[in-house]
This record gives sequence, structure tokens and C-alpha cells, in this order.
Amino acid sequence: MSLRFKVVEEAFKKHPLEIQNPEKRPSEYFAKYVFNQKKMWKYLPVEIYEKLREAIEEGTPLDMPTADEIAKGMKRWAMEMGATHITHWFQPLTEGTAEKHDAFVEHDGKGGMIENFSGKLLVQQEPDASSFPNGGIRSTFEARGYSAWDPASPVFIVGDTLMIPTVFISYTGESLDYKAPLKKSLAAVDKAATNVVKLFNPEVTSVSTNLGWEQEYFLVDEGLYAARPDLLLTGRTLMGHESSKNQQMDDHYFGAIPERVAEFMKDLEIQALELGIPCKTRHNEAAPNQFELAPIYEECNLAIDHNMLLMSLMRKVARKHGFRCLLHEKPFAGINGSGKHNNWSLVTNNGILLHAPGKTPEEHLRFITFVVQTLVGVYRHNGVLKASIMSATNAPRLGACEAPPAIISSFLGSQISEMLDKIERSTTNDLFKLEGKHGMRLDVPQIPELSVDNTDRNRTSPFAFTGNRFEFRATGSSANPASAMIALNGAVAEALTNFNERVNERITKGEEKLSAILEVLREDIKLCRPIHFDGNGYSDEWREEAKRRGLDCEGSTPLVYDRYLDESTVAMFEKTNIMTRAELEARNEIKWETYFKKVQIESRVLGDICMNHIIPVATKYQSVLVDNILKIQSCFPAERATELTAYNVGLVEKINMHAHLIVTKVNEMVETRKRINRITDIRERAIAYHDEVAPYIDGPQSIRQHIDELELIVEDDMWTLPKYRELLFIR
Ligand code: ADP
Ligand code: MG
Repeated sequence: MSLRFKVVEEAFKKHPLEIQNPEKRPSEYFAKYVFNQKKMWKYLPVEIYEKLREAIEEGTPLDMPTADEIAKGMKRWAMEMGATHITHWFQPLTEGTAEKHDAFVEHDGKGGMIENFSGKLLVQQEPDASSFPNGGIRSTFEARGYSAWDPASPVFIVGDTLMIPTVFISYTGESLDYKAPLKKSLAAVDKAATNVVKLFNPEVTSVSTNLGWEQEYFLVDEGLYAARPDLLLTGRTLMGHESSKNQQMDDHYFGAIPERVAEFMKDLEIQALELGIPCKTRHNEAAPNQFELAPIYEECNLAIDHNMLLMSLMRKVARKHGFRCLLHEKPFAGINGSGKHNNWSLVTNNGILLHAPGKTPEEHLRFITFVVQTLVGVYRHNGVLKASIMSATNAPRLGACEAPPAIISSFLGSQISEMLDKIERSTTNDLFKLEGKHGMRLDVPQIPELSVDNTDRNRTSPFAFTGNRFEFRATGSSANPASAMIALNGAVAEALTNFNERVNERITKGEEKLSAILEVLREDIKLCRPIHFDGNGYSDEWREEAKRRGLDCEGSTPLVYDRYLDESTVAMFEKTNIMTRAELEARNEIKWETYFKKVQIESRVLGDICMNHIIPVATKYQSVLVDNILKIQSCFPAERATELTAYNVGLVEKINMHAHLIVTKVNEMVETRKRINRITDIRERAIAYHDEVAPYIDGPQSIRQHIDELELIVEDDMWTLPKYRELLFIR
């Protein structure tokens, strides 16, 4: 039996792992490992608890004596929970998270040790972070990087370690991570949105951002994974002929979850709930072996911590169950990829959902204001929003198999669309009567109607309105969602600020408030019209139409990153106080570098597999065929032998042709890489990798086309790499 068959047999034999079900309700173990309000109350003196609550809710800074007291209480709780170490936990620009563990111990001055954990260690650390990507910031400014506690993110325990969520900044204050600019973007939205809500609800004092992410992923058996060097080293398959059956029958979507997977999900959910992640939904996705987990939405900063935490938990729990969890956006060609839909909305301190239709005309107008200003932000910065979700791994996913195309547009549905049209065309303010509950005139759709088409079936829209929120669907499954949220929050904060200024200008000049709001809205509805598109995002007509509308249609990842450095983008990020030009430039360097390195690794892995697996296997099978041909020729008269060997001779030639093309292309690819690696400008190098190396990996000219043809020709038993049909169906 071939090695591959053995691996496949093992994979299909595995029995589900029995999970220790705590036999308790989630409400009993939810947030067991989180230092939440309840534990703060229990472990901190009352006045310290109050100061911390104030810091969390109002962002007031903590003084060192208070931090010391907090650290004491946290240590007591952590030690009771069995923790022995502490780490600052931060989100560098590598997409993952980073930690540096220190034990709770100090010398006691008498030759022994005591358990210690000071306020200083809680509040600030100086990780030797020179190996984290910084895009030149630290060499330009200062060599040190600091991690500083974010009291708004609760501290938690993983294993034996107390994890302190932190921002990661340079000595001179530049952000080296996702959390710092994210928090600034949330503050910008708070300020801008609060000013606008006050036009309708003067009692509102703050606005926060909600995020509900939906995490898609694939599971693959660990043994099969280990037999695929491409999966192991790049997170996706770089070759593999389509399975005869994949998702055509739609029988996986919402189908019964295989038992082995169900056990994994149960285990994952228990552990996630214990960490305070409010898991809610789990189901099969469209592709075989593809699944989704979604929590209940939370405040954006916390939701992002939870997503980062969940992704690392998924990887860990999967291994325990003999799986590998693939978070790559396109692990398999030809079937759906994985995204991370970001459900985004704004909510006031007194609980008003600003993207939800209201009941009175005032509420309705407020709702329309927030929808329109969101669209204005997305329209003005559609290029940056795309840049915020573009990556070497997300690029192959976009534009096919239910993933949105690489052009940002917004689906609104017929009711909202008609309503906006009506407002734009109307010339009087009778449309909205702000005096009474029943003063709504004209046939502006009413609330019960509005909820009818609140979720769209157009799964390919990159930014869809879904009833009480927008769903940013272009985000990739492996990405830190903060990248998309920073861009979106910044764009919307800018639009809201601008709206507020224009309305107030009119009011100062004596115009009535209602009229001022409606006039400015009319201008804005007209302005953002090009971003609205409810049709088929995959059609060629849309591509043409989008170009005519002036939307960003660039598909090359390294070129899309240029949008971060447009003057309008820099102005938006600087005005909203989210990032400076220097920070944007530094982060782009990192993006280009990450991009070309990923393509470089894929290209190397592909070359190696070709030379070590594909060509040797093809040659071996060719020899078998040649042997058969020679034997037939030795026992039959020439004419008859020609007839009898015709088929195999054809195969020998086919193998020869594909093998020849593979070797030629691999050599070309290696030479191209060598040449490109000499380009010193990082942006230029990334562009060259995109234009000249990536086409060898994917697309009609790719090397994989020939490998996949060979896979169909070569005897099954000889093929060394597990095939799609084996990788994709869990037993
Ligand atoms: P679907 O797959 O139909 O988009 P799901 O139920 O899988 O819906 O996921 C929807 C996500 O959106 C969940 O995380 C949910 O909590 C979140 N969500 C619901 N309402 C809001 C809202 N107003 N703002 C932000 N997120 C929301
Ligand atoms: Mg969704």
C-alpha cells in the first residue's frame, strides 16, 4: 500500500474524542477565566474598583499607586486560578498576537523568592521588540517599543498565564500595532457621532461601535495536512485537481455536522465561553469541511480581542482533536474561500442603535442620516477600505465563489434605495414632520415593511446593509479585523464631522434644523450615489460601470496599498487623529514586505514540490508505461504493436509535455525571483512579485495547471500528495 493510502486510511479511522462536558450551563462557566467586573468587585478595594471602572468607562488615566493596588488584586485572583506567569498580550502587524511571559517571582532579598507582580509590570513593559515589523519606525524615531495596558480590555488567563491586553507603541508614541490606532478610531467615531446624534437626542453623551464578526474556517485531518508541504508551509494548497464531487450539491451547507467535528466545536465553544467570548452560532459553510463560528456582537475593541483570541484557540483545540484549522482565505482552489464578515453598527450610551430604523419620524431621519453618512465615508474612501482588507492571502479569494469582488460597493435593498431616492427628489420638508409620532408623511416605508428584506441574498456585496447594521464582507478570514475597522471608523468619523459642520453652518445662518439636515442629506445622497450597487458584482458590466462611476477597480494588492498614501487618506487619518503620515508610510512598508514574502514563500514551496514530488512521480509512471510499451513491442508484430501501444504512447507524450513545461516554468520562476530580489525599493519589489511571480502560482499560465493535469494521468497509487477528495471530506 502506498504511503498516501496509509495516511488516508489513518485519517478516516480516527474516532471522535470524548469531551469533558462540564455538565453545567454556559451561564455558570462563562468568563470563568476573565477578570471582569464581578471579579474586580470581589478582589479590589471599593475605591480602587471605582477608579478602575472610571478608567474603563471614561478613559481617565490610572496613577501608579492605583495600578499597584489593581495588580495586587489581579495577582490574588490569578494565583487562586493556578496562574504562575504574566504576559503582555499585544497585536503586532503580523496578523497574529504576541506574548512575552514573565514568572510572578522576585528575589526576596534573603536568598529566596517571593511571588510578586507590581503595578508597573501591569501597566507597562518594554518587550525587546526589534524583531516585530515596524516599517522603519523604530529606526527613524527611537529604538524602544513599549506595551501599555488597555484597561478597556479585560485581563484573562490562558493555561498558567495571566494575559494583559496592551497597545504596542514606539518610545515617541507611534503605533506599532493594531490596537492603538483602533482605539483612536473608536474615539474619533465617538466624538463625531455624538455631535450628530445631539441634533436629534441632546441627552446622548457618547457613541460606541459594535462589531459582530463571523469567522469562517476549514478543518483538515492532521495526518493528511502533514503530508502536504504546501498546506504546512503556506496554509493553502498550491496544487490539487478538483474533486469530482465538491460543493455542487450544496449538501454541506447547514447540513448535519460530522460527529468528529461536532466534538471539536463543542470543546472550542466551552473554552471560548470560559474566556468570555459569547459564542452563539455554529454551522457548516458552503464548501466541504468549511465551518463558521459567530459570537453575539460586542463593543468593537473587545470583539477584536476576542476574535484574535478565538483564532489562536481554534488552532490549539483543532490539534487536540487530530485536526488542523485552516484560517487561510483560499485553502482550496475552485471552492468557496473563507471570510470574516464584520457586522458593524453604532450605538449610543443610552442604547439607541443608530443604524436601526426607528418608530417616529425623528428616529427615522436619524437612521437615514447615519446610513447616508456611512455611505459617504465608504464612497469617499472606497480605495482605502479595499486596501484595509487586501493581502496576499485574501487576494485569491476575492471575486469568485461567493466572495465579494475587489471593488467596494454597498448593497442597500429596494426599500432603503427607494427611500433615499425619495428624499433626494423631494423639494419640501413635508417628508418628515418632526412634531408628532404619526406625522410621517408620504409613503416613506414603514418599519414593519423595512424588516422584510433586512438580510440580503446578495452574498457577493462587499458592504451590505442588513437591517440594523452594515456587514463588511470583504475582510479575510485570517486577518486582524482591526485593519478594516480602523479604515471604516476613520472614514465614517470624517463624514459625520463634515455633515455636522455643514448642518450647523446652515442653522447659524438662520435655517430651520429640519430643513438644514434634509438639505445636507440631499447633497450627500447625490454625492454617494456611485457606491450604491445592488446587482451582480461578478458581471463584466459591473466592472465597466464601476470604472465609469470612479470607484477604485485596481486588483493588484501592492498597488491597492497606495491608497493609504493618497492625500485625501492622509488628511482623513490625520484629522481624525488616528494615524500620522509617518505611521501610514511605515505601515505600508510592512504591508508590501509581508506581501512579497508570502508570494516568495509560496513560489519556493511550489518549486520544491515540483522537483521533489511531481517530476519524480511523473517520471516513475512514465517508466511503467514505457516498460509496458517495450514488452508489447517484443511480443507482437510491429503493426499490431503500434495499435496496442497507441494509448500508452499518447500518455507518455502527455506526461512528457507537462513535465517539460513544469521544469521550464520552475526554472523561469526561480530566475525571475533572483532578478526581483535585487530590487531594493520594497514597493517596487512587491509589485514585481505580483506581476511576475504570482502568475506562476495561480491563473491560466500557472504551473499548477500542469500538475493538476498530471494528477489525472498518473496512477492513483503512485501519487504522493493527498488529493482534494481526501482532504475535503471528513469521516
Ligand atoms: P448572517 O450569517 O445571516 O450574516 P449571523 O447570525 O451568522 O448572520 O451573524 C450575524 C452577526 O451579526 C452576529 O455576530 C450578530 O451578533 C451580529 N449583529 C447582529 N446585530 C448587530 C448589530 N446591530 N451590530 C453589529 N452586529 C450585529
Ligand atoms: Mg453575515
